[in-house]
Amino acid sequence: MADPLANRSHTAIIMPMQYRQGPGTIRELPHAVSGFGEAAEALVIATSGGWKRLGGIVEKWRADGLRSKLAEFGGECSEAEIERLKREAEISRADVVVGIGGGKLLDAAKSVAFRLCLPIVIVPTIASSDAPCSALSVIYDEEGRVAKFETHPRNPDLVLVDTELILQAPLRYLAAGMGDALATAPEALANLRAGGRTILGASPTRLGTAVAELCGRILDEDGAQAYDDAARGIRSEAFERVVEANTLLSGIGFESGGLAAAHSLHDGLTELPDCHHLLHGEKVGFCTAVQATLLGNPFEAAKHLRFCRRIGLPASLAETGLIGDPSELRVKLLVAGRRTLDPGESIHELGRALTASEIADAFEETDRIAKELFG
Ligand SMILES: [Zn+2]
Repeated sequence: MADPLANRSHTAIIMPMQYRQGPGTIRELPHAVSGFGEAAEALVIATSGGWKRLGGIVEKWRADGLRSKLAEFGGECSEAEIERLKREAEISRADVVVGIGGGKLLDAAKSVAFRLCLPIVIVPTIASSDAPCSALSVIYDEEGRVAKFETHPRNPDLVLVDTELILQAPLRYLAAGMGDALATAPEALANLRAGGRTILGASPTRLGTAVAELCGRILDEDGAQAYDDAARGIRSEAFERVVEANTLLSGIGFESGGLAAAHSLHDGLTELPDCHHLLHGEKVGFCTAVQATLLGNPFEAAKHLRFCRRIGLPASLAETGLIGDPSELRVKLLVAGRRTLDPGESIHELGRALTASEIADAFEETDRIAKELFG
């Protein structure tokens, strides 16, 4: 049967029900949970490090009457981990799931909530990816490779972005979030030009495209300043805007503005153990430059590489962990290239017949541009 959602003559957009950002917003959590019912019971998921960073605030809420069970996240958003947390939610008869942490934890929390048809509150502690606002979970296998994408019927009910908390996180996460957000505008625009579909199976709305473009503009104007401010512990306006770009605009932008090659190239890199030490956005940033090369825009590729270099993101093959003699490297890039072209990858929205060899060429050419720029 034809997919009724696969229709280019329709447009679609989805987004979180409510997004709140600012210093100290995590303190709104008990009130938010009670909004799902006076006696609502929450399953609060965090990592053991996360509990420590929160400095006893959850325990204080519990003493103040927040009905909740705490669950510790194991570290990987895998099928086994989601099912384990789901059982915890069932045992504690949770009415609402709360995820406090980074992208993988938040993706797992979303899957737990939606599999149980429960509302979900997301509290990102880092601004490292666009996971917080999306209706998507990326599920990994036990070896850390992307296993599948799980799409949910709706986006999170509430996203609470506490910029004081995010400012305390290591700078690497903010930079990775900018790497992820760097892809948003170029992917949405490439998708639009090619007449592609978003992951909603329709063409993007004007609003979806505009959100993606705004995301790109904020990185252009405020990205480097926000990075420097965060390095000095200053919660500046530029920092606030970049957190919004990384979290909200990139989230709506990729989901409702459309994806193209950069995220598929990223998925290709997850096939290579050499790149497993990198965060999602650290790979996506470089892959944004590779997408530009693939589309025949070396100047745009150079611009993306300079931005990556400016904020400490990988800006060459070696910096992504890919080293070795050229023939060895070529074999690895062909492996990544084949994975990039898996059916279902957003690169096919470009409507081009690409080969793994052309993908490998684009990685090599981008690396050559990087050598020209940085020596
Ligand atoms: Zn992403």
